[in-house]
Amino acid sequence: MAKSSVGRIGIYPGSFDPVTFGHIDLIDRALLLFDHLIVAVAENISKTPLFTAEERRDMIVESLDLLKQTSARDRLEVVIFGGLLAQFAIDRGATAILRGLRAVSDFEFELQMALTNRTLAKDVEAVFLMPNAKYIYLSSSTIKDVARHGGDVSKFVPAFVAKRLQDRFAK
Ligand code: ADP
Repeated sequence: MAKSSVGRIGIYPGSFDPVTFGHIDLIDRALLLFDHLIVAVAENISKTPLFTAEERRDMIVESLDLLKQTSARDRLEVVIFGGLLAQFAIDRGATAILRGLRAVSDFEFELQMALTNRTLAKDVEAVFLMPNAKYIYLSSSTIKDVARHGGDVSKFVPAFVAKRLQDRFAK
């Protein structure tokens, strides 16, 4: 796909196990920067996921109702991808790969990833966005820990995701 045909394409990859308000906040911000945004759910992740790739994708799709920019829905795609992210970005004609930066602790790993991806896909930039400060400490893994022990996660994830977590850990 030619880059110019649909404007700037952003790819937002991640595990999304599960999607949180931090991810949704980032998607809203990214829609201001990109003409088309591809939220890419990684099929193969190093940690064993709690939810399957299909479940993770479906929860993101359902969360899109919570976006501030509701009219932007037609500029958004949620897909599952496997293999090399840099190759996926090239194949989709991406302008940039988007990642979130929360604390300084995210930085070193993200810098390594971004520079590695640059060698593999030299025309694809790396873009980092910071979430609203209230989501800065939010991560899917912390939320899973809280939910696993019966804690209330409704401030961190959409209500239907909180229910899915509750059901999963009740088993
Ligand atoms: P990964 O395992 O690829 O890091 P995650 O689903 O944990 O997948 O995160 C996907 C992306 O979203 C990462 O760039 C991460 O930094 C970002 N992210 C996760 N939680 C937040 C948050 N609360 N605020 C901003 N960015 C976040």
